[in-house]
Order: sequence, then C-alpha cells, then structure tokens
Amino acid sequence: MTTYSSRPVVLCLSGHDPSGGAGLQADIEALLAQGCHAAPTVTALTVQDTVNVTDFRVLDRDWVLAQARAVIADLPVAAVKLGMLGSVEMVDTVLELMQSLPGVPLVCDPVLRAGGGGALGKDEVGYAIRERLFPVAAIATPNLPEARILAELPEGSADECAEKLLPHIQHLLITDGHGDETEVHNRLYSRDGSRHTFTCARLPGSYHGSGCTLASTLAGRLALGEDLPSAVESALAYTWRTLRDAEQPGHGQFVPRRL
Ligand code: PLP
Repeated sequence: MTTYSSRPVVLCLSGHDPSGGAGLQADIEALLAQGCHAAPTVTALTVQDTVNVTDFRVLDRDWVLAQARAVIADLPVAAVKLGMLGSVEMVDTVLELMQSLPGVPLVCDPVLRAGGGGALGKDEVGYAIRERLFPVAAIATPNLPEARILAELPEGSADECAEKLLPHIQHLLITDGHGDETEVHNRLYSRDGSRHTFTCARLPGSYHGSGCTLASTLAGRLALGEDLPSAVESALAYTWRTLRDAEQPGHGQFVPRRL
C-alpha cells in the first residue's frame, strides 16, 4: 500500500478580511508558501478595504469551538496561529481549545488595530491576551504600537515593553515596521535573557497584512520543525520579500505578494 505524507497542518484562528490582504487569506497564502496546510477557523468577520476597517463582528463562541474541534478531531495539528480574536470571550475560547492541544506551539499575533489604524478589538482584549494566552504561547509577535498597548507604556521603547511583557511569555518578537528610521530593527527577546536583533532595509510603502504574514509564516516554520530563532529569521526574511514585491490592488495600502 502506498502511504502519502502530508504537509504539516497549522490551525489558524483569525478574522476574515474581505480585501484579501490580511486575516485568514494572508494566513492561507503564507502557509502555502512554506509548504504547510492551513486549517482556517474564522473568529470574526470584518468590513474593510485596503484603506481601513469600518466594522467587525466576532463570531459566537460555540461556532468557533465547533469549527476548531472538527479540525482538531480530524487533522494532526502541528502548530496554532492566532490572529484577530476581537473579544475577551474569544480569548477564553482559544484558551479552552489550547487545552486539547498540549505541546503544540502557539504563535500569537495580538491584533488590535488594522493597518489603517481602525480598531479590531478593545485594549481589554489585549490585556486578556497578555494575562491568559501569553503564558501558553511559544511566542507573540506584536508590532511596537501593539507592544505599547499590551505593556501599558504609551511611549515605551521596545526594550521597556519587553521588560514588562517577558514575565508573561517565553519569547517575544517586537517588530519595527511602523518606525521612520531607514533601517528596521526587529527584536527577539527571550525569557532566558537572550536577545537577537534582525535588521533590514525599511521599504517605502504602507502595508496591509504584514503582521498576519509574519505570524503565520512563523507558525508554519515551527510546524516544519525549525527551532525558534531560525524560524523567526526565516519568517522575517520571507515577509520582507513579500513586502518588497507587494502590489497596490486598490486605493489604500500595499498587499504583500505571498505567492
Ligand atoms: N486580522 C484581520 C482580520 C484584519 O482585518 C487585520 C487588518 O486589517 C489584521 C488581522 C492585522 O493586519 P496587519 O497584518 O496589517 O497588522
């Protein structure tokens, strides 16, 4: 009998962005590009274009549990990627799901704002992510504005935010895409005290879905068995290339070209 080996499965719990730049579509495309299979569970629907978000609706907890449980019962989930959760109740729902996936690495993208600045969850959602999901996550990938919200340090540097957040989480990657220096310094902090800075050239555009691309690629790399620092390095390099090759399909931000 012939046996077929499957690509590693990554369970994605993220919102849907109808423009196709961010959210679950970003997860699916980025994971395909890594040679992984995305299992997309919808947490929320959003109304948005490439300029900004105008509304969102978080799905009922029962629907999210039912979607994810169907996947977990059937497919060998090798990693989990969290994107937009949208409510404190959804944070608790994810925590409940993770209890049935012991040892499976969780990559948490603490999504609170769309690329255009519109809210995708209240700050309380961020605090709940920090208190309840960070302790069970392998790594979180906030950008600096998100890290400042999570650390409750509105003017904090990446180092100051990391100092405040590391007691909650093992590894933290604070990205620097929103700065204005000519180089981007993405910083990986680990609870054992190690630090890595990954520097790349700042690209000129404003992008929609870069954080989703990074976090899902990182989850895919962990699902493929890469160790964490190397998975972070390859995910940052891949994401940078998708931004370099980005397209502007509408009137707003550029969309990463993931495939
Ligand atoms: N998840 C959803 C559903 C979104 O709509 C967005 C942004 O619009 C994001 C996540 C975050 O996008 P980004 O990767 O640009 O931070």
